[in-house]
Amino acid sequence: MLTLHGIGVSRGIAIGKAHIIERAELNIRESPVASDEIDEEIRRLREAVGQAKQDLRAIREQIPVTTTADIAAFIDTHLLMLEDAALTFDAERLIKTRSCNAEWALKLQRDALVKAFDEMDDPYLRTRKDDVDHVVSRIQRILLNYAPLKHEIAGSRLEGMVVLADDLTPADTVLMQRNGVAAFVTRYGGATSHMSILARSLGIPGIVGTPGIRRYIAENELLIIDGSEGVVVGDPSAAIVAYYRAQQSEHKRHVEALESLRGTATVTADGHSVELHANVELPGDFIAARDVGASGVGLYRTEFLYMNRRSNPDEEEHFRAYRALIDAVDGMPVTIRTLDIGADKDFDDNSRRIDGANPALGLRAIRLALTEPDLYWPQLRAIVRASAFGPVRLMIPMLSNVTEARGVIENIRTVQADLERRRVVFDPNMPIGAMIEVPAAAICADSFARYLDFFSIGTNDLIQYTIAIDRVNDAVNHLYDPLHPAVLRLISGTIDAANAGGIPVGMCGEMAGDVRYTRLLLGLGLRQFSVHPSLLLEVKHVITQTDVTKIGQSARHALTVSDPEELNILLSDLL
Ligand code: PEP
Ligand code: MG
Repeated sequence: MLTLHGIGVSRGIAIGKAHIIERAELNIRESPVASDEIDEEIRRLREAVGQAKQDLRAIREQIPVTTTADIAAFIDTHLLMLEDAALTFDAERLIKTRSCNAEWALKLQRDALVKAFDEMDDPYLRTRKDDVDHVVSRIQRILLNYAPLKHEIAGSRLEGMVVLADDLTPADTVLMQRNGVAAFVTRYGGATSHMSILARSLGIPGIVGTPGIRRYIAENELLIIDGSEGVVVGDPSAAIVAYYRAQQSEHKRHVEALESLRGTATVTADGHSVELHANVELPGDFIAARDVGASGVGLYRTEFLYMNRRSNPDEEEHFRAYRALIDAVDGMPVTIRTLDIGADKDFDDNSRRIDGANPALGLRAIRLALTEPDLYWPQLRAIVRASAFGPVRLMIPMLSNVTEARGVIENIRTVQADLERRRVVFDPNMPIGAMIEVPAAAICADSFARYLDFFSIGTNDLIQYTIAIDRVNDAVNHLYDPLHPAVLRLISGTIDAANAGGIPVGMCGEMAGDVRYTRLLLGLGLRQFSVHPSLLLEVKHVITQTDVTKIGQSARHALTVSDPEELNILLSDLL
């Protein structure tokens, strides 16, 4: 028996035989092309690009209609790259200027694009160089006449098998799902790579970052994949297989129980209604939020609009993004948070970085917005305009004093008056609320409640500021503790202040999506949770099983417990 460890990126257990996908290394060499053959070489390239597009379109057609839209979006990204002049036009230019073969021109163009991606700070975008690799190698394989692999051939029998590969493209993933593959394990890749996102969307257990797979595992060897723990067991004993089979049935029951909650009302065991909203950032999340049955968008992070560029987005660009969200979620309320740039979300363009000695305590979020009108006003105007097209709430991040809140409200009124003069429609009653994520705001929540229409507790920052722990500093983040009594008291105080002030209060930090804390938060009176779409059903499951009347007293008691052991016992008693 052999055990290998990787990063579990898609939960679930699979037991099946190994199928190794071995893509022969592409042997790309430069070979000179005579000047009278340049046109023919360009024709070869265009034909290969055309073939690649045709193949991808055929794969796109095979995506099951029941799966989420992000799968098609990944394939579309590749199709767009095939149409993008930066790739093919530049490769053609290289064929002409260097008098070289199409394969080599593509390689040079690939290297240049990968270098540009490598220089980006954003780890998500850095992984997008995989897209370039996948697209370029698809064209090169066509140029070199490589034979298709087993999973690429229609009707290949891969039912129940565990696919092992160095790396998988989105197209591979779709084809394998069609052929009944039970799980994936790859040598490369991280939690945000396409393969990981796709495996989660398709509900197939997946493990990435497993260097030993090719060395230790043979074709057809029996494997167990535990996608939650990131464990691959090779050649397992009968007892281990029996153990995992039991786990597999348990997991299946759990998934079925969660699925049955999709689209049902969120009500506690003793009849209290709870609102479950979704946190979204990219268009793929919009669809996921709707598909999972969220009753609203509790946090739309808008920073991505400002990233990977040198100039600020204009009003129209903001407006288009907000309309896209409103249209995608079919009339459910959406909470658009104004820019939260600075600290962990600083500009990636070095010339615009804000930095400072203590960026988390510096010019960030609303502080930056209020000092840089060019950054903020187009966004405010776009949000106000978007409010005419669906129920929109505007949310201010990082408020620390009431003057800031009043300043923003005044700005919004100015925008509204201006739009009215110009006869542009908007919702004059658009709620204006705030993230409660700075201890000062939590402590004085009663004062803020007088000016604002709603609160959303941002525990990610609230915890870091309360305990003075930088949330992205590995050296201290073991001290980051959502259960610190100081944090719990601030959360509880904020909920109480909102209730006393008659305004709704939710929570949109990670704590809201962590089922270990769901009961405690319900016990403290929280009735609105905003979580990543992938966590929504898990949280819903716990909510529906909780009797809040029973746990209220113990939850309040947690506010006074400083001993972590005692607190853990108290929490498990809430179960
Ligand atoms: C938070 O601070 O809890 C929050 C949701 O905002 P962000 O993580 O974007 O700072
Ligand atoms: Mg925050």
